[in-house]
Amino acid sequence: TGMRVAVVGAGVTGLTATKCCLDEGLEPTCFEQSQDIGGLWRYTEHIEAGRPSLYPSVISNTSKEMSAFSDFPFPEHFPVFLPNALLLDYLRRYAERFGLRERIRFGTTVVSIRKRPDFATTGQWNVVTEAGGKQTSDVFDAVMVCTGNFSEPSLPLQCFPGIERFRGQYFHSRQYKHPDVFQGKRVLVVGMGNSGVDIAVEASRVAAKVSISTTRGAWLLSRVFEHGYPWDMVLNTRLMSLIKTNLPGPLAWWLINHKVNQRFNHENYGLQPENRWPVREPVLNDDLPSYILTGRITIKPGVKEFKDNSVLFHNCPEEEPIDIVVFCTGYMVSFPFLEESVVRVENKHASLYKYVFPTHLEKPTLAVLGLINTLGGIMPIVEMQARWVSRVFKGRVANVSSPSNVSPKMQLRLGTFGLTFDEVLKTEWLVYLDTLASFIGAKPSVLGLLCTDPWLALTIFFGPCSPYQYRLRGPGSWQGARQAILTQWDRVLKPTRTRVPAGSSSSFPSLLAVVGFLLLLAAVIFGF
Ligand code: NAP
Repeated sequence: TGMRVAVVGAGVTGLTATKCCLDEGLEPTCFEQSQDIGGLWRYTEHIEAGRPSLYPSVISNTSKEMSAFSDFPFPEHFPVFLPNALLLDYLRRYAERFGLRERIRFGTTVVSIRKRPDFATTGQWNVVTEAGGKQTSDVFDAVMVCTGNFSEPSLPLQCFPGIERFRGQYFHSRQYKHPDVFQGKRVLVVGMGNSGVDIAVEASRVAAKVSISTTRGAWLLSRVFEHGYPWDMVLNTRLMSLIKTNLPGPLAWWLINHKVNQRFNHENYGLQPENRWPVREPVLNDDLPSYILTGRITIKPGVKEFKDNSVLFHNCPEEEPIDIVVFCTGYMVSFPFLEESVVRVENKHASLYKYVFPTHLEKPTLAVLGLINTLGGIMPIVEMQARWVSRVFKGRVANVSSPSNVSPKMQLRLGTFGLTFDEVLKTEWLVYLDTLASFIGAKPSVLGLLCTDPWLALTIFFGPCSPYQYRLRGPGSWQGARQAILTQWDRVLKPTRTRVPAGSSSSFPSLLAVVGFLLLLAAVIFGF
């Protein structure tokens, strides 16, 4: 249709958004303020304003098979969890393979996006960009916002009484690059998200002492999960999802509780999360339990007050002497180039249909991608959002339903409206992917396949829900999808079975397959 789409940002999300537009025959122009692709995943030693900043040791916490774009598996020799440089390498290959660079305007900042006066009929936007100190205004038929939410640190100093008199050093985790700053120091890490735990573990190798202060606690998962398989390939399966979503609440809670406490009891390690629901994002770290056990890291409650050279914690009478504090207190989301009437972020919530479309626009010609936070890889999620959004833009998929069409009860049940990107597990990763896939006709049919390709059906149902499943049919189906699914475990074993060569590619013992088949039949009979 030649529809012109402005894509804001050339990180993971912007790249796949540009690619999905091209797939649908739209005309994307991607604006990237820096000089290169990769967004968050492009490490720089120097911290750049308005860009995310990584520490060099960041490794992806979802496995390569569960993080791939659905028609572009990671190379088989890549490790199962990806150091940031390899993830960037993958993104470069993706951009190369699908000719995305030609569509990107580097060094170009989006300054403002405003509705055109005739928006109600055309749905068009005025997009003002700035490059080399010069502003340009263009008209676009649609916009995809792909700016992510890791550029603006949240440093709520007002929540920490006495911080102004603290004589030690303190900084936000965004400033952190190398552990040498902690050499011989007594370190306090505030906040037990993934940044906090990563930094505490690194610090504890050189520091005199390391404590983590957490108000809420968290589940701690290990990348190396049951039988040494990647955690997400074990947990994110259709069978598991079916069980979790159909069990009554307390039973589901008990099951999760049981699973995450198998390796160690969270209560004994001071980690037990405080609230039952919604569950906060679990922390992924393989080292923390052993570091707690060996006394390298101590878990503390929330900070009550800072003194000159020490810290007081809630429910603890003794002061703890501290030299350096790292505030790992997360990030804020904002869209400085949008008007509040389009997307309003308040208390970390915004009203977005399926976490994507602003609910109050006359025309669904603007989408915000990548703001959902589920327990699973983000790349398949943003890719699916982009596939859906580009179909909506093109008019191939029914218009976005307006919130008034859905009863409040229904809204609650589906968790459909309102963006809550730091409350995970409310929306299941797999359920969300399936929902969007069903909008565009790309959801795999396990039952259908059971008749035509039973082995594939079993692999899809019992095996990990790898993203290739969403390329088996519908628009954008990919011929390599079946093969990619059947070889997913090969690509996992390839980089680790390095002494004795890998044998057969089979991941299921045949007995398990038979039992599985019976279970599947039972599931069908009891109505799934
Ligand atoms: P985060 O997950 O948002 O965690 C921030 C934590 O700071 C909160 O959980 C809370 O911890 C604490 N906090 C926030 N406000 C506070 C306040 N007013 N007072 C006291 N404590 C407060 O931030 P993050 O760890 O920087 O992670 C950001 C995102 O990047 C996450 O999605 C994470 O998974 C991701 N990440 C990934 C990797 C990786 O892939 N390897 C590494 C790092 C980060 P408490 O409840 O414990 O007090």
